[in-house]
Amino acid sequence: MSEHATPCIIIHHSEISLKKGNRGFFEARLRDNINHALNGLPGCHVKMDYGRFLLFFNHMDQTQEILDRLQHVVGIAYLRPAYPGSRDPDTLKDQVFDIVKSMSFNTFRVDTRRADKQFPHTSVEINRIVGSRIHMQLGKPVDLSDQADLTISIEIFNKKVFFSVNSIRGIRGLPVGSTGKVVSMLSSGIDSPVSSFMMMTRGCQNIFVHFHSYPYTEKSSIYNAQALVRHLTRYQYRSKLYLVPLASIQRAIISGAPEKFRVILYRRMMYRLAQKVAEKEGARALVTGDSLGQVASQTLENIAAIDDAITMPVLRPLSGLDKDSIIKKARDLGTFTTSIEPHDDCCSYLVPQRPETKAKMDQVHKAESGVPDWQAQIKDALKKTELEKYTWSV
Ligand code: ATP
Ligand code: MG
Repeated sequence: MSEHATPCIIIHHSEISLKKGNRGFFEARLRDNINHALNGLPGCHVKMDYGRFLLFFNHMDQTQEILDRLQHVVGIAYLRPAYPGSRDPDTLKDQVFDIVKSMSFNTFRVDTRRADKQFPHTSVEINRIVGSRIHMQLGKPVDLSDQADLTISIEIFNKKVFFSVNSIRGIRGLPVGSTGKVVSMLSSGIDSPVSSFMMMTRGCQNIFVHFHSYPYTEKSSIYNAQALVRHLTRYQYRSKLYLVPLASIQRAIISGAPEKFRVILYRRMMYRLAQKVAEKEGARALVTGDSLGQVASQTLENIAAIDDAITMPVLRPLSGLDKDSIIKKARDLGTFTTSIEPHDDCCSYLVPQRPETKAKMDQVHKAESGVPDWQAQIKDALKKTELEKYTWSV
């Protein structure tokens, strides 16, 4: 950006352009989220202009911080630090040249997008005028593929011209909060933070529920879950974490049901509790980090036997992914190192040697009917549930 121009970043949103009737709603949500992300940075001003956002700010040295924050905003396709350009192609070509002449690159291309059809030159003409100035003066070859070292993007819209030499990919997806609330079952393992994040990228505000068996296990899983929620809150700005004690229910299950059904019955109780939280919060679905076939409780038969306990839909965004792909996502998201901290998961509390992998519904119902007073146990667990609130800050 030149010394004198107001610094500007062009923000292109991701799937919102596909929305017809309620496009304005999605845009407003993204704008709110961008403003949240920029919280505490003085002088930032966002406005909508012809299907993209323009972010103006005061000082060039804020650029990196702003880009870093915006790269964590769900719903942004790409970001371009931009320079205002002239509508006169001869002046524009000099302005672009001024910026690129000191840059180090070999091949380059010019990519003009003209949303403003009143503009007297076509995109191809602008590409040629600007490109030949650089080619003639610097002797650099043009590469029209996306392999070029340098892409100069020129955007012409609403009587304005901007150019940029750097396009940064965003998270894409739909703005958090635009599709509703879900209750995400967050263990302290690798998978569930990834599944929560994937639902954020589909526009969901996640309410987190973590089950623990304290005081029969250490508090480590709670600490891990808290750290994961703190991390994930960066993407949705505000989070609630419900910490639900499961130990009494587990002891009732252990005392009243055959050993091989323990895990399925633990899960059925967890789902019932999560559904209660969802009803209270106005959330419409549960989310888990299940991946089909990964462990004994995640066979098709067992999934059916677990979902049978509740009426709410259960979303399993990882169900078709293998462990390596999930680990890669966890690393990219930055949750992997927290997830592998040693912790006692409540489901590892007295797990059977040979868990049932192909549960039959009637057997499950029969096993559950032997669990003493589980309805009262559920009420009691809800009473003892603790709620923590998190807000994102730098
Ligand atoms: P994760 O890495 O997410 O712990 P996992 O591979 O260990 O998953 P399971 O322990 O079978 O698999 O758990 C499957 C899913 O059930 C988890 O992804 C999570 O959504 C939910 N779940 C398991 N344990 C808990 C818990 N203690 N609190 C909340 N949800 C849980
Ligand atoms: Mg687990």
